[in-house]
Amino acid sequence: MTAVLVIAGSDSSGGAGLVRDVRTLTRLGSHALCAVTAVTAQSDSEVRAVHPMPPDLVRAQIAAALATRRVGAIKIGMLGTGAVALAVAASLPPREQVPMVLDPVLLSSSGGVLLDDAGRTALREELLPRATLVTPNVAELASLLGVAAAGTEAELIEQGRALLELGPRSVLVKGGHGGGREAVDLLLLEREPLRRLSAPRSARTLRGTGCALASAIAAGLAAGSSLEDACARAKQHLVELFQQPA
Ligand code: PLP
Repeated sequence: MTAVLVIAGSDSSGGAGLVRDVRTLTRLGSHALCAVTAVTAQSDSEVRAVHPMPPDLVRAQIAAALATRRVGAIKIGMLGTGAVALAVAASLPPREQVPMVLDPVLLSSSGGVLLDDAGRTALREELLPRATLVTPNVAELASLLGVAAAGTEAELIEQGRALLELGPRSVLVKGGHGGGREAVDLLLLEREPLRRLSAPRSARTLRGTGCALASAIAAGLAAGSSLEDACARAKQHLVELFQQPA
């Protein structure tokens, strides 16, 4: 069985974060190892408390996980603080050895802050250059670049390309929060044509879809899929998730 190391925060509601990641990986037949970055007290409608883990403990968890078994991919979600983000960056194997999917978690959908200002800087400077793939939504993409949210697909592509220049091997801009009958994600790689990944938009909203998508992509990469196949299959997995009873 392939294994994925999840580096993420816990969400007491079980909708997002580590619980969602582990559920996704289990469903896709991947073994989950984990390093907890922060414990959060959340309901579906609010973030009540955030407690970051000590950076040394985060480092120790990553080192222990990597020593336990061969890890085929790493998924990074909520980091919480700059100190934790730097500890994670210092603990990662090179992406040429182990592919890394970075979900740039900044806010919860209820509006709670999940990454502080120093964390944003560390994410941009230390983690983006180590990522195989980064998976921002439209708001996260604009926020990471310090610009206004894109209003058109052309602007989204331009912003996606600007993020690519910060060092990740590829960028998947998630269109799930936009309008239209289809949810279209844009996959950008340097010197390669843009790829559009499309699926019918669900009428439902579901928490933790960003976590599930990034984990599902990591499961595909760990199993040896190409980036494009891993993204397409992960998107299909989200469609199936939306079809399940709430
Ligand atoms: N809480 C944690 C611990 C997360 O990792 C994330 C997203 O990755 C969220 C909350 C945000 O999820 P949602 O957008 O569904 O609120």
